Amino acid sequence: MRLLIMGPQGVGKGTQAALLAEHYGIPAISTGDIFRYNIKNKTELGLEALKYTDKGELVPDELTNKIVKDRLAMDDAKNGWLLDGYPRNASQVVALDGMLAELGTPLDKVVALDADHDVLMERIAKRAAEQGRSDDTPEAIAKRLATYAKETAPLLDTYRSRGQLVAIDGVGDIDEIQANIVEALDR
Ligand code: AMP
Repeated sequence: MRLLIMGPQGVGKGTQAALLAEHYGIPAISTGDIFRYNIKNKTELGLEALKYTDKGELVPDELTNKIVKDRLAMDDAKNGWLLDGYPRNASQVVALDGMLAELGTPLDKVVALDADHDVLMERIAKRAAEQGRSDDTPEAIAKRLATYAKETAPLLDTYRSRGQLVAIDGVGDIDEIQANIVEALDR
């Protein structure tokens, strides 16, 4: 199973990604987590990414595409994967198409989670209070949501027109949402 999970910040993507990865026995690959790991360990990649992540801006495509390409080439990704937080703009879609063609492995489905603005703001504020992520400042949050609306949301139409989109309501009980996703994917 090769999947993408898409949706605005605060919609519960990470939580659902982890559950889906367990359900299908595939690795959940989060570009945000890869950047955060590198930032924490002060690697060269981390220092470069930090210039953008802290402001709520996208890390340049060249850098992001490369880490995804390298990650998909790893052994544990041979039989499937779930990408969380990638692609985030049209040029990353083109890059991913290229990687898939090179690997000779088509994408199965794109899970899109959505919730209305107030629910998202509430969840993000809660996470900010609990985890203290350095990119959870009000300015960075607003910027991330705006970037999502402008650059990432239009990609849903791309995948819908390819017949790959599975749109699921991201409001409600975690297990119920998970069951809805799995039911739609297995249909
Ligand atoms: P996330 O945890 O997915 O919200 O990602 C945290 C931050 O990492 C984002 O605000 C971006 O700065 C960066 N990032 C994650 N994924 C991508 C991507 N596909 N393209 C560019 N930047 C990304």
